[in-house]
Amino acid sequence: MAERLTAIVVGGGIAGLASAVSLAQAGWAVTVLERAPAFGEVGAGLAITRNGMSALEAIGVGETVGAAGHETVPAGFQDPGGRWLLRIPQHTGRAHGHHDLGHSPATPALRPPAGG
Ligand SMILES: Cc1cc2nc3c(=O)[nH]c(=O)nc-3n(C[C@H](O)[C@H](O)[C@H](O)COP(=O)(O)OP(=O)(O)OC[C@H]3O[C@@H](n4cnc5c(N)ncnc54)[C@H](O)[C@@H]3O)c2cc1C
Repeated sequence: MAERLTAIVVGGGIAGLASAVSLAQAGWAVTVLERAPAFGEVGAGLAITRNGMSALEAIGVGETVGAAGHETVPAGFQDPGGRWLLRIPQHTGRAHGHHDLGHSPATPALRPPAGG
């Protein structure tokens, strides 16, 4: 029987947790080491761009993260006269991202349940 691959991920931020989830889904035994004594809320909000949501969807937590926030409206930059200088494309018909007032809707979705 093939030996199970093991990985140690240092840091339980979104990069570490996303890596840990991806490795676990690929069958690795993963240990996450986080120096902070507890996960708490940091800051006031988090905007996740479309590519970020795609990455979260790819590892199976997109729906959970999406439900924690709301879709942003199309955005861009206007000059003082209201002329659009840059508009974020709307051609995909998909949300551009999510924004959540409680900080970091992403990382709780990536964490294992208590005791997991
Ligand atoms: C004010 C602010 C607002 C932001 N807003 C947004 C936003 O709206 N949207 C967005 O996409 N990005 C935003 N960012 C950027 C985003 O927060 C970072 O890109 C993202 O958090 C990086 O994730 P990470 O996992 O690489 O690092 P971090 O989130 O920094 O996580 C690293 C983790 O590793 C732990 N760690 C470090 N060293 C060790 C060690 N030696 N042993 C154990 N644990 C260790 C740390 O405690 C930490 O938990 C913002 C950043 C700031 C500062």
